[in-house]
Amino acid sequence: MSSKPIQVGDLVMVVRVTPCCGLCAKFIGHTFIVQRIYMYGRCSICNNTNNGGAQDEGRHWFILPTLKRIDPLAEPEHIETDEEIHA
Ligand SMILES: [Zn+2]
Repeated sequence: MSSKPIQVGDLVMVVRVTPCCGLCAKFIGHTFIVQRIYMYGRCSICNNTNNGGAQDEGRHWFILPTLKRIDPLAEPEHIETDEEIHA
């Protein structure tokens, strides 16, 4: 997997709870396109300072450690198919 940082326009999903307070569980699975990146973010729940966040299309934003980028185009070599035809 690439280790590029999450950027504006990336499709991301909330995959884990906040590392600071362990909350945001209700947003697990929330998928959105990043509208804005914050270099320094505060947890919207406990107000701890974190390493940045990403805003969704609405009013929510999520600190980066809770997010995983979803690559729309999977790398072809990782796609397993049954295309091996034994003639
Ligand atoms: Zn928190």
